[in-house]
Order: sequence, then structure tokens, then C-alpha cells
Amino acid sequence: MQKKSIVKLEAVNKNYQLGQTSISALKSVNLEIHGGEFTAVVGASGSGKSTLLNIIGCIDVPDSGVVLIDGVDISKMSDNQQSDLRNQKIGYIFQSFNLVPVLSVYENVELPLLINHEVSEQERARRVKEAILEVGLEPFSKNRPDQLSGGQRQRVAIARALAGHPLLVLADEPTANLDSENSGKIIELMLSLNKNKNVTFLFSTHDEKLVSRVSRVVHIKDGAVQT
Ligand code: ADP
Ligand code: MG
Repeated sequence: MQKKSIVKLEAVNKNYQLGQTSISALKSVNLEIHGGEFTAVVGASGSGKSTLLNIIGCIDVPDSGVVLIDGVDISKMSDNQQSDLRNQKIGYIFQSFNLVPVLSVYENVELPLLINHEVSEQERARRVKEAILEVGLEPFSKNRPDQLSGGQRQRVAIARALAGHPLLVLADEPTANLDSENSGKIIELMLSLNKNKNVTFLFSTHDEKLVSRVSRVVHIKDGAVQT
């Protein structure tokens, strides 16, 4: 069976203007991601990884080119439609975890679901508990982020992404702030979620060590995706 295309980029360009100079962050990028894939975007610092993930995650917009998410051209959507798409179809994991310090693990995972009007209160509670269980943080539900290790904090961020039952999880250098032991554990967790729960991951890294664990690697250099 043909796998479902969930992301398709065609000739995507993105420039940043810095005073008189224009930086070409993405150069005519073509990329397709299918449901169930586990893909690493690998490139040096400054190569355009975050720009690419931010455009796919509707956090940033391209200057030209086409971005299809779940078959829909996002440039034709209003800002509200784009926010809904981001909230309902995309899970985002950041390098620096981006947890809310005053909220518990449970509340952090719950937060994005509070603005998703398609999820009832009962369903919300079920999903939050399930996601926390999946990342192995059940005993820490009531703890605050500052009571957890870096690896545990990144697990909270993964649970938060999973609770929305997203079509795609984007992870921008999710292991960059972790030691090698915790990096390995986070990658293993993402791989097992991919294998056992069919969660589609697109993650970026500059760590070549991680590449051996991944079935599909997309190399990016100076804003160009190498084919
Ligand atoms: P990576 O995530 O691979 O380190 P980025 O996507 O962050 O790369 O950056 C790609 C290029 O675009 C770099 O040269 C960076 O300096 C530039 N860039 C990224 N964001 C901005 C911005 N907001 N303003 C100006 N230049 C930017
Ligand atoms: Mg980056």
C-alpha cells in the first residue's frame, strides 16, 4: 500500500535580511515525508535545519515554494487555520525543552490540549495519562520541571507532543542539551514510539553518532537539501 504523504515541500526558499545582506537559509528545497517514517535532518550549525522544521511546523513562512501538510497547501490558509493545523496535527519538541516552570509534569502535557476544542475534558485526561505513561514518567506527574533531570524534561516535552495525537512530531535538535547517555535514551524512546505506535518523526541533529540509528537521513548544507 502506498504510504500517505503528510509533508511535501516543493522548491521552498527562505531568506533572512540582515541589514544590507540577505542570508539564503533554504534554497529550493524539495522534501516529502510519509506517514510512519522516522527521518533525521542532519547538517552543521547554520545549515538551515531549524528554518526547515519551523516552516513545516507553520511557525515560519517560506518566501516562495509550496508547502503541503496532509495534502493541504498551507499558504492558502488563514492565520487561524494555520494555528489550528499546528495545534491539531503537529507536535513540536525543542532543544531547550520549553516547559512551563510553574506547572507540574501533568499540567505541562495537558496545556496544548486545553486550546484544542475538539478534545473533551474526559478525553484530555485520558490522553495526558497515556502520554505520561508512554514516556515512563508516571511517578513524576505531580513534579515540577526543576525537580527533573534534563533527560526527564525532554520526556515531558515528548509526552506533550504525543498527547495531541499529532500527524507528525517535529523535534529540533532534541538531544543537543543532553549528555550522551540521555541522548541515546531519548533517541531510543522516539524510535520505539515510531515502531510501536507508528508516530511519524522528523528530527534534526548535528550529531553524526545518532545517524546510524535512523532509517532515513536527509543531509542539509548551506540551505540546500542534498539528494
Ligand atoms: P540550523 O538550525 O541548522 O543551525 P538555522 O535554520 O537556524 O540553522 O539558520 C540558517 C541560516 O539562517 C543561518 O545562517 C542563520 O544565521 C540564519 N538565520 C536563521 N534565523 C534567522 C533570523 N531570524 N534572522 C536572520 N538570520 C537568521
Ligand atoms: Mg537550529
